[in-house]
Amino acid sequence: MMETQILSGKELAEEVLNRVKAKIDEMISEGYRQPGLAVLLVGEDPASKIYVSKKQDACDRVGIRSVSCRFPEDTDFETLKDAIEELNQREDVDGILVQLPLPEHLRDRTNELLYAIDPSKDVDGFHPYNVGLLSIGDERGISPCTPKGVMYMLDHYGIEVEGRNVVMVGASNIVGKPMALMLVNRMATVSICHIKTRCVRDFTKEADIVITATGVPHLVKREMVREGAVVIDVGISRVNGKVVGDVDFDGMMGHAAAVTPVPGGVGPMTVAMLMENTLECYVRRVLHG
Ligand code: NAD
Repeated sequence: MMETQILSGKELAEEVLNRVKAKIDEMISEGYRQPGLAVLLVGEDPASKIYVSKKQDACDRVGIRSVSCRFPEDTDFETLKDAIEELNQREDVDGILVQLPLPEHLRDRTNELLYAIDPSKDVDGFHPYNVGLLSIGDERGISPCTPKGVMYMLDHYGIEVEGRNVVMVGASNIVGKPMALMLVNRMATVSICHIKTRCVRDFTKEADIVITATGVPHLVKREMVREGAVVIDVGISRVNGKVVGDVDFDGMMGHAAAVTPVPGGVGPMTVAMLMENTLECYVRRVLHG
């Protein structure tokens, strides 16, 4: 029976955070100011509050000053846009992110709000300028944290992507599409499946690497994946109070070559990459103006 490697993201994320902290300490000892990250949270969504507090904890851990910008549920679009424009101007703020999803009344204008962020402070990499740079493979752009974290894990665990068949299940702007672009930039052959794909299994069964980001618990089962494939689970859902991914994790044991756990897989990497992106924006700002 195949031995399945569990690809943990916890220790790896710790390593990244240690490196980010060391770099910030070094910059500060050389007389530079502290980096700053502004996190905008609108409303009281419980999951969003947890994500924001994890981001703030990571900031504290590495020495980034987190500028908390909390707004009540009924905040209007103009107020948020004004707040972003003010943060764009602030010298002590290197990164700006808007925690998604926004409340219902603002959801249609999410993109408009993301476009208001100065691309050089766009630590989530969602601004069309950064998306454009990614799509043409220009590494000067800022890459979205979750796919960047997945790529980091693949590289760390020595999983080659060049020339391999990769199936991306999920095609969101946040995960699926930028993940597919990063993989193509690294010369993988990529298929993208989504809710309208007629038979996801026809694709996943042929893949060397399956990456899934749908939010559908246990969508990817053992019989959908060929023996010896690598399975990366980005999904996070809650079933009976328990956090689960898109993958039937137990079903992959003895079948897949490697699989990421949920929690403790891609999740911690996302936060670590956010810290890395903030550091990158800060270094560019203080050293290159
Ligand atoms: P989304 O809802 O924007 O997109 C979901 C995608 O999955 C869509 O493209 C949809 O077409 C596709 N999909 C849905 N059901 C499907 C099905 N049955 N078969 C095939 N495709 C299907 O979600 P998102 O923002 O991309 O997030 C996806 C999941 O990843 C969520 O569970 C989210 O919580 C999680 N997530 C995790 C991290 C992390 O750090 N680990 C970061 C971002 C998102």
